Amino acid sequence: MSEETMKIPQATAKRLPLYYRFIKNLHASGKQRVSSAELSEAVKVDSATIRRDFSYFGALGKKGYGYNVNYLLSFFSKTLDQDEITKVALIGVGNLGTAFLNYNFLKNNSTKIAMAFEVDPSKIGTNIGDVPVYDMKELEQRLNEEEITAVILTVPVNAAQQITDRLKDTEVKGILNFTPARLSVPPSVRVHHIDLAVELQSLIYFLKNYPNPDTES
Ligand code: ATP
Repeated sequence: MSEETMKIPQATAKRLPLYYRFIKNLHASGKQRVSSAELSEAVKVDSATIRRDFSYFGALGKKGYGYNVNYLLSFFSKTLDQDEITKVALIGVGNLGTAFLNYNFLKNNSTKIAMAFEVDPSKIGTNIGDVPVYDMKELEQRLNEEEITAVILTVPVNAAQQITDRLKDTEVKGILNFTPARLSVPPSVRVHHIDLAVELQSLIYFLKNYPNPDTES
């Protein structure tokens, strides 16, 4: 939990996600301010409790104005988003995949590789860097059970598209693609492509052709 959350009573902390969801909707609809009465109506918490809750995190409503939606939104996202650990899955436990499993992402941010998938029987059933390696046969079921929304793809290039196609039956909305394959995905899925060989080649090209970074542009 972040410092701010620790200072507020638990009963208030429990209501934060409720407030947050409503404030996000308000913000998305373009509203700049909201009264405690409107909030009370929407989240079904009495307005005296809302005023008290909000005072814990320094949001003081003004009479006739209400609360500033942007302020509330930034408070909630700062407090809640950081706390939540985002679980991702890794597919393909080869050299690169193994390195990612051993790398502790949690050191620097709130992302964790929760599970990995493989076809190689000698790797299935093992744990690498505390991450369980499962059979590819269980892909859809396991991803759905853990509500995984992003995967890291470190399989051979010729397996990439076929695996991507299987993700249609899951909640996965993001793929970090370390294979050279150009993946076709539905519009709702975002692919970030990292081709280490191309990046390295590009760096070498720039070193050769633009040895002094100041001469670029
Ligand atoms: P290694 O030295 O273990 O072969 P590598 O990174 O050089 O590692 P790749 O051929 O790129 O090997 O394969 C990466 C990993 O992806 C391997 O562990 C391989 O067993 C696995 N793999 C291959 N096909 C699939 C697939 N269809 N689904 C999931 N994993 C796969």
